[in-house]
Amino acid sequence: MNKSTIISIASMSALLATAATMWSVSQIASLRTEKSELNQLKQTARQALDRATSTMHAASVSLLTLEQLNLPPCSDEHREAMQKLSFNATHFEAVSYIENGAVKCDSWGNISPQQTMPQTEMLSDDGLLISFNQPFPGAMTTWRSSHYMLQINPLRFTDLGVPADTQLSVYYNDEKIAEKTTKLSKSGATDDYAANLQAGHFAVAINKPRAAASAAVREQTILLLPWAAAMIALILLAIVASVRRRLSFIGELKHAVAEKRFVNHYQPIIDLRNGRCIGAEALVRWQRPDGSLVRPDLFIPCAEQHALIAAITDIVITTLISDLQEFLRSNRDFHIAINVAPEDLKSGRVLDVLATQLAAAEINANQIWIEATERGTLDIKHARATILRAQQAGHTVAIDDFGTGYSSLSYLQEIPLDVLKIDKSFIDTIGNDAATSEHAGVTPHIIHMAQSLRLKIVAEGVETARQVDYLRARGVEYAQGWWFSKALSVHEFLAYHARTDGHEASSSLDLPRPARPYSNRLTHV
Ligand code: C2E
Ligand code: MG
Ligand code: MG
Repeated sequence: MNKSTIISIASMSALLATAATMWSVSQIASLRTEKSELNQLKQTARQALDRATSTMHAASVSLLTLEQLNLPPCSDEHREAMQKLSFNATHFEAVSYIENGAVKCDSWGNISPQQTMPQTEMLSDDGLLISFNQPFPGAMTTWRSSHYMLQINPLRFTDLGVPADTQLSVYYNDEKIAEKTTKLSKSGATDDYAANLQAGHFAVAINKPRAAASAAVREQTILLLPWAAAMIALILLAIVASVRRRLSFIGELKHAVAEKRFVNHYQPIIDLRNGRCIGAEALVRWQRPDGSLVRPDLFIPCAEQHALIAAITDIVITTLISDLQEFLRSNRDFHIAINVAPEDLKSGRVLDVLATQLAAAEINANQIWIEATERGTLDIKHARATILRAQQAGHTVAIDDFGTGYSSLSYLQEIPLDVLKIDKSFIDTIGNDAATSEHAGVTPHIIHMAQSLRLKIVAEGVETARQVDYLRARGVEYAQGWWFSKALSVHEFLAYHARTDGHEASSSLDLPRPARPYSNRLTHV
């Protein structure tokens, strides 16, 4: 990624983060509004339900009291008693005395009023007959015992403070008995805020259109804006910090390439047939000004993206020649494997660099192996041409990390290789519980396939004696890994070789291993 791509990605991320934060704010504001609206509606519904239940309860008590009046029916005292009760009552409007299915007198003082009895009636739990919307003297609800009938104005059920823009309905046995509507801006929408409560025969439904709460949503949004601004500021700061880190990392890497601030470490490669160290892999490290070393997998991908990899390959070659020129001249069977990037294989330029430098240093081409990594994408056509040229020049060519990429098998078919390096992930499965690994059971097939293609095999990342025994038993020629040695600085490597060269082992446990623990100044490696 170049600078302008990084900046464009960062700007896009900043825009996306801002949009996502604002969207979250609007969602949170509507959710908070919905919660508070629903709470308010539920509270009102609960009050309406309590009001309806207590009205009916008070009516039942009043009827019981009336039934116990022991006065001559429709006498002056009787009508006066009914009048007094009705006057003091807060839950009904009037009471009528009934005899033989007809009204004889009422609390208004009428005797034999022409009042029709309710047609449709329901039976309450305490045996009272209830009727709604009776035409006298308005749309009244009646509540009747054996001799008395109360007239209740339905407004009593909804006589409570109801929030603006709502519609409140009270039901008795699913029949609507009262309704109260406060100015509705829009009604009946399916996404209205709504609350329904039920207790016994009563049910209350209340709803409010969402549109009526838009002011509340706006209010909530305004309340959340400082939080959103802080979030956006934090995200932007994080993006700016990451861009600066990234740009400064690239800048630092460019500077390091210009100043050639890299060192090679060398990891011994062992011939499993005799235990001898027959070669080593050159593994590059970036040396920071404070002396710390940075792992290659942290900067090689970045170097590949920023066209710095060819320069790094050149540095690795120059360094290995200056590190090991004498050693390689006096050990003509010994080889150093170098890792080349897809870009190096595409251009083939690395071969010219090698040819010039090796000739000047009097190192044979067959002392340098070339490892082509199988990770990432390889331009097969160009890679094939470079590899053929490398082999003609006398180099041995290995495919690195075999099995980890997408096209391992097609590379084998199309590219003439000499060595196959089995990736550590396959070696790890040896001696482990096979069922837990995604590579379980594949290793013997890779070995078999390489052997039938007459490729030499290097097993990577060998860490246990069991793996060594397994590989040797299957005829794998070479191995590399911490069981033998970690990657060593040039001095440690030369000391290691001096200590172990010529030593032949008869069992894996006798194979040469570093006599003292691996140590170097790596802080990042
Ligand atoms: P690679 O070429 O597959 O190198 C093997 C890596 O495995 C090395 O890591 C090595 O230190 C590590 N290793 C070896 N044996 C063991 C073991 O027994 N256990 C474990 N856990 N690890 C082991 P390193 O040095 O960090 O290199 C990582 C990768 O960076 C290399 O993988 C290679 O792909 C790349 N690389 C290193 N040097 C260069 C270079 O000069 N040029 C290019 N283009 N890539 C390089
Ligand atoms: Mg390698
Ligand atoms: Mg490898």
